[in-house]
Amino acid sequence: MSQLSQEDKDIILNSIRDIPDFPKKGIIFKDISTLLNNPKALNTLMKHLEDRYREYNLDYIAGIDARGFIFGSILADRLNIGFVPVRKKGKLPYTTVAEKYALEYGFDEVEIHIDAFDHKKDARVLLIDDLIATGGTAKAGANLINKVNAHCVECCFIAELTFLNGKECIDSPVYSVLEF
Ligand code: AMP
Repeated sequence: MSQLSQEDKDIILNSIRDIPDFPKKGIIFKDISTLLNNPKALNTLMKHLEDRYREYNLDYIAGIDARGFIFGSILADRLNIGFVPVRKKGKLPYTTVAEKYALEYGFDEVEIHIDAFDHKKDARVLLIDDLIATGGTAKAGANLINKVNAHCVECCFIAELTFLNGKECIDSPVYSVLEF
């Protein structure tokens, strides 16, 4: 299993920018756009994920709308496997399966194409997103993968807000590159 050195961890950590009070007061938004436009940090991160997941015998990467698409697509290409988008409601054009999840106030919904993993029976899928906070979004994404007859083998995040205990609600193993 690939371990990230402290030096490499610091390169990634220092490339992520904190934006206080975005999108609303009291939230510290972890801005990964400064990781994406930093080639050294992005390559350090993606090389680590490639090394880690090469041993997992994955069939697909599923990425969560929208920042999960970026890391997920790069990783899928590096591992030479397919990429599947988990999208916010109403964005996917073909027949979908949906999963609702609770927000602070109200509900949101994510969807996946019903035939997303049909090329491979019992597909082994890694779910990826930039950040796990309460875990609601990732739990819904993992449920969707399992609903369409694939298997969510792990959920991967670049950053985890550990004080929210989001990973407690997810049945699959969780790997976070950085913990805050
Ligand atoms: P949750 O469902 O609470 O785990 O929220 C995770 C989703 O919200 C991910 O798609 C994140 O991109 C986004 N998110 C939540 N909190 C933050 C934050 N503090 N900084 C950046 N993104 C966040």
